[in-house]
Amino acid sequence: MTELTKSFSRRRFIASASVGAMGIQALTPISAFAGVNYDVIIIGAGTAGIPCAIHAAVAGAKVLLIDKSVQIGGSLWLAGGSMAAAGTRLQARKGIVDSPDMHYDDVMHLGHNKAVPEIVRRYVENAGPMADWLEDLGFQVRDGEPVAGRGGHAAFSVARYFQGPEKGRSILKVLLPALKQQVDAGRVRILMSTGVDELVMDRQKNVKGVIATSDNGVRTQFSARKVVITSGGYCSSPEMFKKVTGYECYARTAYYMAKGEGLLLGERAGGFIRGGENQILGPGGIVNGRNLPTVFAWQPELDYKRRPQWEIRVNQQGQRFVREDHPDQDERDILFTRQSTQRMWLIFDQQINEQAPAILRGKSKEDVEVLFGSHPMFFREPTIEALADRAQLNAENLKRTVEEYNSGVRNKKDVLGREFLPCEITKAPFYAIEVTGGNLVGFGGLAVNADMQLLRHDGSVIRNLYAAGEVIGLSTIAGDTVVSGTGVTPSLTFGRLIGRSVMRKV
Ligand SMILES: Cc1cc2nc3c(=O)[nH]c(=O)nc-3n(C[C@H](O)[C@H](O)[C@H](O)COP(=O)(O)OP(=O)(O)OC[C@H]3O[C@@H](n4cnc5c(N)ncnc54)[C@H](O)[C@@H]3O)c2cc1C
Repeated sequence: MTELTKSFSRRRFIASASVGAMGIQALTPISAFAGVNYDVIIIGAGTAGIPCAIHAAVAGAKVLLIDKSVQIGGSLWLAGGSMAAAGTRLQARKGIVDSPDMHYDDVMHLGHNKAVPEIVRRYVENAGPMADWLEDLGFQVRDGEPVAGRGGHAAFSVARYFQGPEKGRSILKVLLPALKQQVDAGRVRILMSTGVDELVMDRQKNVKGVIATSDNGVRTQFSARKVVITSGGYCSSPEMFKKVTGYECYARTAYYMAKGEGLLLGERAGGFIRGGENQILGPGGIVNGRNLPTVFAWQPELDYKRRPQWEIRVNQQGQRFVREDHPDQDERDILFTRQSTQRMWLIFDQQINEQAPAILRGKSKEDVEVLFGSHPMFFREPTIEALADRAQLNAENLKRTVEEYNSGVRNKKDVLGREFLPCEITKAPFYAIEVTGGNLVGFGGLAVNADMQLLRHDGSVIRNLYAAGEVIGLSTIAGDTVVSGTGVTPSLTFGRLIGRSVMRKV
């Protein structure tokens, strides 16, 4: 079985698991969903779309939930599903004192005050009730949670970060039965394998429905009082990634349907995209080749807490740009993003090659040795100049950088403040490994107000049109860094809020 067939079968399997469990007749023709005036049409049955549908239905709405994929659930199938919320019952049981104000201060501070304050305020006030609602549905957290922080991102000031034992799937496990109840009650209809490709507007430029195309090419118009875009981000579309951020999309690591189609729908309706300049690309991994976008073949261990960093990191100009053992991963990622072409090279010598622990996660030193000479991202040469030449780095700068680093090792004082200085880089042959930027989440997104209504450039609201989830961009909540939980939690929280308000007049 090829990789492609395997992933297709897996998708079909998951699809049958999610769609089948929902009791949806996959073969129902698209025309059977038309001719109804829905209260709300939700574009995307993922993290934000599912809670939106459930709450709209509970509020009495007639809901049409449309998804382009063959499976319900969107990014929750792959996400870590780590969430952050203040003032939850979970915290209260553990005696943790927290409040939306404290959460607000943390989020704004960690995101360097680049998030949208009124939306962060709405988020922190409603994330706690959302978490309690998940608990009501049966969601359970991992032992020992919540915690202040986990992984490499900056920790919160108190323990408010939690995850289910099956990561994002733990969330789906409780959402799907709740959605099924509404489907069974006839309040939610779900149309799968159908992409929304146009919004229908009236003469006053108010939204009044959508046009969608099924995967067998049938185009159909649907009417609704309100439309909600919950179609996710753009990190699986190199074109959209470049359009929104200006950066290259080296490898696809996000959900396969995160193609930014909702951003285009919003733009065509008069909305606009903001926050793309806040996109950060951590050093994602080592790509498999130069035909982009490709996949990350290997992950170097770049966290000094898991593996002491013996190498130096240089940009294409042959200059160091970061203290390799900087304790803050977000700071390291921001500095990496600022380098031209969002690539860096790990430079080391024979002594480091012999003495340092293996650099690639899950690979032995022998495995890595084979790659030098056989893989286009691994270089080994007898001199620094030859190494620079092969890896296409500025040779003069690289030589100067290595000399400066060596002098810092001798004097025990590194110019960038690095503390771990095990040995000079002097012993031939010399090595370089090329690492390229990667991204899971889109920072740019459609501009909305605190009620999640789409905005035009002049600040006016596009009537009847709402958005939630990654389509509004991570930077709306997280500014220019990955504030823990700000992908999944706001998606669920705002999806829920829109659903609850859908039967209101405006
Ligand atoms: C590997 C990974 C790990 C992550 N871990 C975390 C984490 O631990 N914590 C965290 O906070 N965030 C995390 N994130 C980010 C988070 O998962 C996402 O930001 C969030 O789930 C997005 O939710 P959404 O509802 O916007 O999109 P999705 O959940 O992706 O749903 C969008 C849906 O819209 C559908 N769709 C797309 N286009 C159309 C169209 N034209 N018409 C109809 N339907 C359409 C898609 O098929 C999909 O079902 C992670 C992301 C990844 C990729």
